[in-house]
Amino acid sequence: MIVVDDLKKFARYFRPYKVQLSVGIACILASTAFGLFIPLFVGQAIDANWTQVSWARLTVSAGKVLGASIISGTFLFLQRRLLIGVSRNIEYDMRKEFYEHLVGQPLSFFHEHRTGDLMARATSDLSAVRQLAGPVIMYSLQTVFVVVLVLPLMFVLNWWLTLLLFVTMPLVSLTVKYFGQQVHTRFEKIQEFFADIMARAQENFTGVRVVRAYAQEDAEMAAFNALNWQYAERNLALVRVEALMRPLMTFLIGFGYVLIIWQGVPLAVRGEITVGEFTMFNLYLARLIWPLIALGYVVNLYQRGTASLKRLNTIMRIEPAIADTPTTVEQPAIKGAIEFRHMTFRYRPNEEPVLQDINLRIPTGQRVAFVGRTGSGKSTIANLIPRLLDAPDGTLFIDGIEIHKYPLAQLRSSIGYVPQETFLFSDSVKENIAFGVEDAEIAEVETAAQIAGLSGDIAGFPDRYEALVGERGITLSGGQKQRTAIARAVLREPRILILDDALSSVDTYTEEQILGQLRGVMRGRTSLIISHRISTVRDADIICVLDEGRIIERGTHEELIALDGAYADLYERQLLEEELAAT
Ligand code: ATP
Ligand code: MG
Repeated sequence: MIVVDDLKKFARYFRPYKVQLSVGIACILASTAFGLFIPLFVGQAIDANWTQVSWARLTVSAGKVLGASIISGTFLFLQRRLLIGVSRNIEYDMRKEFYEHLVGQPLSFFHEHRTGDLMARATSDLSAVRQLAGPVIMYSLQTVFVVVLVLPLMFVLNWWLTLLLFVTMPLVSLTVKYFGQQVHTRFEKIQEFFADIMARAQENFTGVRVVRAYAQEDAEMAAFNALNWQYAERNLALVRVEALMRPLMTFLIGFGYVLIIWQGVPLAVRGEITVGEFTMFNLYLARLIWPLIALGYVVNLYQRGTASLKRLNTIMRIEPAIADTPTTVEQPAIKGAIEFRHMTFRYRPNEEPVLQDINLRIPTGQRVAFVGRTGSGKSTIANLIPRLLDAPDGTLFIDGIEIHKYPLAQLRSSIGYVPQETFLFSDSVKENIAFGVEDAEIAEVETAAQIAGLSGDIAGFPDRYEALVGERGITLSGGQKQRTAIARAVLREPRILILDDALSSVDTYTEEQILGQLRGVMRGRTSLIISHRISTVRDADIICVLDEGRIIERGTHEELIALDGAYADLYERQLLEEELAAT
């Protein structure tokens, strides 16, 4: 069964806290054991041959009860401190591992899993699992200890009354079992739904611009409300089960008392049991009741915890498809020659290939450009080189070495990649440019910004390089964002620079300047430039025209114009557009 697997995996997290855990469990035992002296001392006090009130004797009796209470309470305190502490540490460890696991996942993972869903797992599910690591263990052991210690004592006091309790006990465990299953399935559904809600909210907040622009606030709100109501209904379904559980337990326990009074009082009257013993018996019974009620609560938490554990583990079980293997070793420093050999690439098996039989050798230091219609596969090529997508074996080589042989960190630290969609962090301009480069000097950041044609803009920002970008700071224009991303790539001094349509929001004049400066810094290094604009690519050493995943033309600008094919067509059309725009 899957839960067993999940729990086995979970047990691993307790290993570093063995000592704390064992001491904590010992404290449960001690607290329970000392607690049992209280009924004993009370019973003894009642049964002591009292002929007259003696303050001295009373004080001794009361002192014993007090002493037992204090010791039991102290252990209770330690028990909670230690065990709840362990559960918080485990929560920390698990969240860390979960986060690391997500960070190691390839792009496709994030296409398949919605952000909101992942966030729900990292928060709500994890906290349910935390309960499993803390309260569930603590309360269930407490119950076991109480039952194991108290029942024999009660038997010794009066076996008949104790046996009567066994009429109700099985009913208690049956109730717990039945309700436990109900809680589990219902809670599972709730958590799934919570993830849906989180995902929906997250998409709406990120896509707020679109929602506003299409005046969809009301519609989105209605859709969200519908989800929200369904969520509430599922919770109500759970509440109905839980609401029944407690009263049922209370009833069963009350019924136990009915039996005790019905059989016990006559015994006491006939003198078969002393009043002190009868009191003791009832006080022990009271000790037994709380853990039994707690048992219902624990079963509840256990079911929630395992449901959530299962949800966390479904994510944790997904091995990152793109990762170093134990045999991956550092390769000679990357120079920057790239070779595609008969590469056919599909996003998913059995789908139409997105790239077909690509053959291309890019010697170190060359500038290669890709042009082609939208959807022709340009970004796919760009993503293959830093292994954001995985090329089939034996189709992609860097410096003549199969790309899979490079450790990911080595490969990626040699590449400066500016993706088609720019992403900036809510951090300063400086930190955004220096992203991924530790201890970057401000001078280096400034040079990178200058190359990317961004220094002029930055000079106009209120705090210049310290200006915050994003939600709590300045809003950059599309072109400024793109140039920040270019500066980020340049700062790494990459052996291979990839610009995926990275100048699309920049005017042609600025573009020319940036390209000129890039040419300087990229001398001897390899550049891949993807663009829709001929002006961006015309100086490249090789221009490849992609169409439906195939390279249909290749050569220099002059060669391709002479060829008078797709490239020449595109060029003429863009010239015409420019002329029209100028008039
Ligand atoms: P554009 O000029 O619009 O940026 P492009 O040339 O960069 O287009 P690609 O993004 O490489 O085009 O896409 C090529 C093809 O691959 C398209 O048909 C697209 O639908 C498909 N594709 C892209 N990304 C994925 C993905 N993650 N999963 C499945 N198919 C994809
Ligand atoms: Mg693209």
